[in-house]
Amino acid sequence: MTITDMINAFDMQQRKGFLMFVENRYKLDFHVDLLVSPMNLEDQLKQLEKSARQLDLTSNERKKYDTAIRDYLFNFLDELEGKNSWVADSEPSKEIYDFPITENGYKLEDLLRLYERSVNSTGLQPASGGHLGYIPGGGVPLAGYGDLIAAITNKYSGIYFGNPGAIRLENHLIDWTAKQFGFTGEYGGNLTTGGSIGNLIAIVSARDAHGIKGKDFETTVIYGSSQMHHSLNKAIRIAGLGECIYRNIPLKENYHLDTDFLSHQIEKDKLQGLKPFVIIGSVGTTDTGIIDDLDKLSEISQQNDCWFHVDGAYGGYFYLIDELKDKFKGIEKADSLVIDPHKGLFLPYGTGMILVKDRKAMLHSHYYTANYMQDAYKAPDEWSPADVSPELSRNFRGLRMWLPLMVHGLKPFKDAILEKYLLTKYAYQKLRETPYIAVGKEHELSVQTFRFWKINTSDEDLNKLNEKILEGLHNDGRIFISSTRIEGIYTLRFAILSFRTHKREIDLILEMMKEQAILFGLIK
Ligand SMILES: *Cc1c(COP(=O)(O)O)cnc(C)c1O
Repeated sequence: MTITDMINAFDMQQRKGFLMFVENRYKLDFHVDLLVSPMNLEDQLKQLEKSARQLDLTSNERKKYDTAIRDYLFNFLDELEGKNSWVADSEPSKEIYDFPITENGYKLEDLLRLYERSVNSTGLQPASGGHLGYIPGGGVPLAGYGDLIAAITNKYSGIYFGNPGAIRLENHLIDWTAKQFGFTGEYGGNLTTGGSIGNLIAIVSARDAHGIKGKDFETTVIYGSSQMHHSLNKAIRIAGLGECIYRNIPLKENYHLDTDFLSHQIEKDKLQGLKPFVIIGSVGTTDTGIIDDLDKLSEISQQNDCWFHVDGAYGGYFYLIDELKDKFKGIEKADSLVIDPHKGLFLPYGTGMILVKDRKAMLHSHYYTANYMQDAYKAPDEWSPADVSPELSRNFRGLRMWLPLMVHGLKPFKDAILEKYLLTKYAYQKLRETPYIAVGKEHELSVQTFRFWKINTSDEDLNKLNEKILEGLHNDGRIFISSTRIEGIYTLRFAILSFRTHKREIDLILEMMKEQAILFGLIK
């Protein structure tokens, strides 16, 4: 039997499956002929085009949607200040499931209302100045417009060939940042989605720059501290270095990594024939906002031929403040540095940055090409994001950073950062004056730890009391703060970094705390 005879034996319904079988088996490509006649094909294309064109809005629809979305957003911004920063009730979020994906879609207005109820009004409100938990973000509106332009013009920012301007715009931001931190020479950088990916790129670059292979794992040592961000532990594991030796270097008073201990530990390790590999310091730890002694860490790194990584995801941009520059001494000697524009530059979530002193180290791990990319790699005048990161296609995230910086200029950003720093000092003074609060040492940036305190109460009972009070504060929800555990002690903390946090929010949380203190009988 010939193939055609076989096909004729099937009716149209069954052909599709059979043709796939035939195509796979005989690598033939004739199924279009068999399924639709040429006349039919043109009609079908016409119909499909009409339907597909709906995806591009008509001019009228654009106006209508634009108005609806703008009204929604303007209203959101106008009402933000009075809004809760935390909504404990997660029930409304379930409504999302009541709207299945359908063939013909819904009205935009209905979806905006659904978004408002089930997304915008549940959980944390990170856009609000009342978000003092974790490390706050913000989301300057011009960054949102940058995203809108980037998405609608849909510029390709993976490789230089695709859009030289987009790559130059991002490299321009990276250059500016690198120079701020005193990086010179052939450094490399990338705008990532956040600090976690930045840390991963750093660890992977360090691994390959030092040529660490499987056989070396057992003798290779990584040094960090318990205040190091967990995304670094995660990066170490993802980078395949989970079998290396990790030394958790103890902290000195006020939570700095103990550099004397580190030096001794490295000596001990070397005597045992181990190989010190990476030293990780922090600029602004998440728990307490402290800055490690970077100068000393870089010196120890150099002496021992280690890669020196600095995690400045939270604290990096405080470097822009002249009054604080001294604290950052040594940062320019980092082999790699992570900073998060979606924290200290108040951008919406989704923008981090990694800088690596030696670009070759980044390229070593990330540069790759393929046959179908041959046009793209002819004459790279500039390095491309794809050469120095795991990504290829990516959102053009440079524009959301560039637009606000270019429109506002640097001054309001610097002033906002300085304001956060001084607000933390203000909060610290107020906490010190409050009899039912035990306040930790004054920290270095914009995180302040403290706990509620009562005479003749055990640590354990105080832990419980603070946990209960935090629950009370969350149920109130006007201002959101979070807790941590530092060396076993349950601790509350303010993290002041949203550009919308001003004195009003600090006074309000202090007021809320007073209400809780009354409720729990700490004062009358
Ligand atoms: C937030 C943070 C990270 C992780 O960054 P993401 O942007 O959330 O991925 C890493 N290190 C520190 C110190 C941070 O504060």
